[in-house]
Amino acid sequence: MSTDTGELYQEIILDHNRSPRNWGPLADASAHVKGHNPLCGDRLELFVRFDGDRVADVSFVGEGCAISKASASMMTQAIKGKSRAEAEALFERFHALVTGTGDAESQKSLGRLQVFSGVARLPMRVKCASLAWHALHEALQESAPNPSPPTDAR
Ligand code: ZN
Repeated sequence: MSTDTGELYQEIILDHNRSPRNWGPLADASAHVKGHNPLCGDRLELFVRFDGDRVADVSFVGEGCAISKASASMMTQAIKGKSRAEAEALFERFHALVTGTGDAESQKSLGRLQVFSGVARLPMRVKCASLAWHALHEALQESAPNPSPPTDAR
C-alpha cells in the first residue's frame, strides 16, 4: 500500500469516528446486541430492524477507539437494505479481510470497507475492527426466523 492510500484510508476512518453514521438507539429494533472488547475497552450496542428478510434499519451507540467506531459506522452503511444472507456474507468477507485470510477477489468486493485491510497487520486491532461485525452476526442469529443448528465450527 502506498503512503497516499494509507493516509486516505486513515482520513476515512477519522471522519467516521468524528461523525459516526446511523448513530443512536432504534426504538422499534427487532434485535439489540451488546458488544464488548476488553482488550481495548470498546463497547457498543447494535440495533437492527428487520423487514422480512431485509435489514430495514440499523444503528449503533457506543464508546471506544477510532477503529471500533469507524468500523461500526461503516458496517451499518454497508448492510442497510441487504438481505440476511448478504449481510452474513459481508460479515464473513470482512472477518477474512481483518484476519488476513481473504483472497484478493473477496477483498475487492468489500469496496470502501477495504480501509480496514491494514488491521490484519495489527493483531491488537482485529477485535476493534470486528466488534460491530460480531454484534451483527449475533443479531442475525438470534433473530433468525428458522434457527438452524450452528454449522460454523471455527
Ligand atoms: Zn479498540
